[in-house]
Amino acid sequence: MKIAIDGPAGAGKSTIAKKAAKELGFIYVDTGAMYRAMAVHMLRSRVDAGDEAGIENACGSADISIAYEDGAQHVYLNGDDVTGLLRTEAVGDMASRVSQVQKVRDRLVALQQKLASEQSVVMDGRDIGTVVLPDAELKIYLTASAHVRAMRRYLELKEKGTDPLPDPEAIEADIQERDFRDMNREHSPLRQAEDAYLLDSSELTIDEVAGRILALAKERTEA
Ligand code: C5P
Repeated sequence: MKIAIDGPAGAGKSTIAKKAAKELGFIYVDTGAMYRAMAVHMLRSRVDAGDEAGIENACGSADISIAYEDGAQHVYLNGDDVTGLLRTEAVGDMASRVSQVQKVRDRLVALQQKLASEQSVVMDGRDIGTVVLPDAELKIYLTASAHVRAMRRYLELKEKGTDPLPDPEAIEADIQERDFRDMNREHSPLRQAEDAYLLDSSELTIDEVAGRILALAKERTEA
C-alpha cells in the first residue's frame, strides 16, 4: 500500500507521516531529505544556487541512497551518512533551488518509485500524489496557514536553543518565499492532486491529524 502526503514546508508532514508509518508498520520515506542531500552535494561542490547548468552537471556525481537504521531513515551521499547535516536553513534553501532542476528530479523520483515498489510506504514531499505515486491508494494534501507554520518553526528553533534566534516575521517571510518557489516552478510544482484529501492542520493537534489519516488508511485497507 502507498500513502502519499504532500503539502508546503512546515505543515507537519514529516511528524505525521512518521507517526502514521509507525502505526501501520510501513516505512516512512522523507523525499525532502533526498533533495536536501542533493543540496549538500551542491554546497560541497561550490555550485551556485542560480547556476542551473552547474547543478545539472554536478548532480551526475551525487550518488544518493537510503538506509533504515532502527526504523529511522538515513540518507547517504557518495557513501557518507549526511542525515545530521540536512535540517539547516541554508540546506533547505539550497534544496528548494536544486529541486527546480528536472534532471535532479528525474534521478530522485526514480529512487522514490523503486522504494515504493519494494514495500508499503508513507511517503511525504511536494509531488508524491501528482508525479511520484499517482496510483497511491491514499493521498493527503496537508497544509496550515503560513503564520501557524512560522510560529511552529520559531518554537522548534527556540526549543533547540538556536542562537541567534530569527524572529517569527522573518521565518514567515522565508516560508512564503519557499512556498512561492515550490508552487510556481516549471517542473512538478506543489499542488493538491485531484483525488487528494485536503487537511488543514492550523487548528488541529498532531494526534488529531494522524488519527484522521489512520482512519482513512483503515477505510482503504478494508475496501
Ligand atoms: O520537505 P523539505 O523542506 O525537507 O524539502 C526541501 C525542499 O525540497 C523543498 O523546499 C522542495 O523544494 C523540495 N522538494 C521537492 N519535492 C519533494 C520534496 C521536497 O521539490 N518531493
